[in-house]
Amino acid sequence: MRKPKIVILGAGYGGLLTTVRLQKLIGVNEADIVLVNKNDYHYETTWLHEASAGTLHHDKVRYDISAVIDRSKVNFIQDTVVEINKDEKKVMLEKGEVEYDYLVIALGGEPETFGIKGLKEFAFGITNVNSSRQLREHIEYQFATYNMEEVKDDNRLSIVVGGAGFTGIEFLGELTNRIPELCHEYDVDQNKVKITCVEAAPTVLPGFDQELVNYAVSQLERKGVEFLIGTAIKEATSEGILVAKGDQEPWEIKAGTVVWAAGVRGNAIIEKSGFEAMRGRVKVQPDLRIPGFDAVFVIGDSSLIINEEINRPYPPTAQIAMQQGEVVARNIAALIRNKQQLETFKFDNKGTVCSLGEDDAIGVVFGKKITGSKAAFMKKVVDNRALYMIGGASLVLKKGKLNMF
Ligand code: FAD
Ligand code: NAD
Repeated sequence: MRKPKIVILGAGYGGLLTTVRLQKLIGVNEADIVLVNKNDYHYETTWLHEASAGTLHHDKVRYDISAVIDRSKVNFIQDTVVEINKDEKKVMLEKGEVEYDYLVIALGGEPETFGIKGLKEFAFGITNVNSSRQLREHIEYQFATYNMEEVKDDNRLSIVVGGAGFTGIEFLGELTNRIPELCHEYDVDQNKVKITCVEAAPTVLPGFDQELVNYAVSQLERKGVEFLIGTAIKEATSEGILVAKGDQEPWEIKAGTVVWAAGVRGNAIIEKSGFEAMRGRVKVQPDLRIPGFDAVFVIGDSSLIINEEINRPYPPTAQIAMQQGEVVARNIAALIRNKQQLETFKFDNKGTVCSLGEDDAIGVVFGKKITGSKAAFMKKVVDNRALYMIGGASLVLKKGKLNMF
């Protein structure tokens, strides 16, 4: 009898967790498992702010996929997904195609630019290993060039971060720790460096606990960040950005580096393949399948699940992606064993910790507020936990943050 083929697209948090759970749950005679990913490595998206600021080397945030999958059970294809042909149940790749009986779309998200002019050309993103490396190297280049130029252009040392959500704040935490090192390395006067964070909402970290937000703002201000709150980026140019408050006339902030960290949308493959989506994210059924497509699951940043308590979508996080991966693995195992009753996904929120650099953070964990070194410790626990869930203790020993204090 022909074995069913399970195809998983994306080896991020959701896709890789689904794969390692499926390889345990399913016997080789029950199904073929195929994992497709652009690179032969997985990267910890949740550590990219560190690689982007240069406080952690980019090789530390990634590991080989072959280190965690069982090659006797999983066929890994390194390729880029171009489109999903849902009618013919096949996935078009850059270098070929692959057919499926069951499909898991776990391709992550993309920066949401809201169509703002100039962002794609002039702003840097914190999106993957390569974008993070480019951002880090760009900042270093600005420092190195400033040092060498005869007529100094102070705007080279001006860095603007668009968005004071979790990504923007975590990046600022790392950046403010890195700046004194950079100034020392490149013989630059630290007083010349200007860091501005522009946030459209009336507050930093909208929706988060106000006391913790105040703590984060005062810590970052103390380290030199200027916050422009209730101010939106309207355009990015080769010289910097244009910003505006409400209906006021836009004004210019000159900057040698503009970082866009103002939210994510679902992967473009979703809309390109004709699935119904809201900002690229598919509103999935409680069993994580796409309505009308019984063989297709979507998890992670490309999926959308409503938090019934507030009637708004859950923010896309690694935490939710991994919990979805666990459920999808069990649901696919049930389907190939002809069980029609599938598990319903329910998000179990363990809390949120937002890093403010190596030794500082804020968070709400199991309902309790934490700050400072205690929160920074918890952040490392969370980071190591993600490694443990995918690759067990050996991966934690190899890639983990073992310098806990
Ligand atoms: P990802 O983990 O992004 O993986 C997607 C995978 O698909 C990647 O391997 C990518 O290479 C691959 N891929 C993409 N397109 C293609 C294609 N066309 N073909 C083939 N492969 C492709 N969340 C938390 O819960 N806690 C945190 O502390 C936290 N910190 C964060 C810090 C930063 C700086 C950022 C940017 C995000 C953070 N998040 C955090 C959010 C979290 O990282 C994402 O929600 C999570 O990565 C989503 O997981 P995913 O499996 O959907 O996608
Ligand atoms: P976000 O949507 O959480 O925050 C984006 C911020 O940008 C918002 O505050 C928004 O008001 C602002 N913004 C939007 N348009 C703007 C404009 N034109 N000008 C200025 N500001 C603008 O996005 P994010 O921070 O990129 O995070 C993406 C996802 O990843 C979220 O779900 C987040 O929870 C998650 N994440 C979690 C952690 C963590 O748990 N530690 C860390 C990073 C990211």
